[in-house]
Amino acid sequence: MKLGITEYIDCAHFLPGHEKCGRLHGHTYKVEIVIEGDPKKGMIIDFADLKKQTREALAEYDHRNWNDVLEYPSVENICELLSRRLKERLTFPFVLRVWEGAGKWAETSSASV
Ligand SMILES: [Zn+2]
Repeated sequence: MKLGITEYIDCAHFLPGHEKCGRLHGHTYKVEIVIEGDPKKGMIIDFADLKKQTREALAEYDHRNWNDVLEYPSVENICELLSRRLKERLTFPFVLRVWEGAGKWAETSSASV
């Protein structure tokens, strides 16, 4: 069975050398995590625990500049970085989708990082 949560972080970034995105600007990043597991006593994991573990991983980057931690902070690279951080905390296989504003996203999974 699958279980999912959505969190949000606000971050600045710029893409070096990019015509439009080369200037410093910000986005609200929507972060969707879907885990997969077998319910035990009716639950895969308590939502509160999943949110706590996820927020711990995201807190490092909220209200920060991605360029301080990534050479080229495209949504693809941000998604990979967050997936690695989440994998350190979550014991379930997961799919991570990171939205850069509305209508644009990248997706990866714990199996591919
Ligand atoms: Zn941007």
